[in-house]
Amino acid sequence: MCIFCDIVEGKIPSYKVYEDEDVLAFLDISQVTKGHTLVIPKKHSDDFTQCEENDMIKVMQAAQTISQHLMMSTNAKGMHVLSNVHEAAGQSVKHFHVHLIPRYDKHDACVIEFQESEAQDLAALQQALMMK
Ligand code: AMP
Ligand code: ZN
Repeated sequence: MCIFCDIVEGKIPSYKVYEDEDVLAFLDISQVTKGHTLVIPKKHSDDFTQCEENDMIKVMQAAQTISQHLMMSTNAKGMHVLSNVHEAAGQSVKHFHVHLIPRYDKHDACVIEFQESEAQDLAALQQALMMK
């Protein structure tokens, strides 16, 4: 088991913004920029290279829809869509996930710095970004 499997199973709380049968999306606990979201398959796979095709397609389709929603909800001007594979590339959670990192201007996150977000900030953000 891993921490994201625990989130899928509800053993660990998360700020969900999207869920369907196969995919879950929730706010990253360390918001690089406002709205930073993780999209994961509910079924565990270690990383992008290991994920089976069907789940990978479903995750990327959801990532596209959520990106469109995030851009509209936040007025972001752009978006990073990325997945780290293995420790050498900065992967710290070994459950495939796609980062959606909204960009507001060129200087909002020049260096990716992780900061702990206040829980109440994330709860408010979740309400604003939740996909119905
Ligand atoms: P990576 O470094 O690409 O593996 O990304 C893992 C991400 O998971 C990091 O950005 C963490 O901030 C995030 N993360 C770790 N634990 C949690 C959690 N319990 N809820 C939400 N995000 C988390
Ligand atoms: Zn897992």
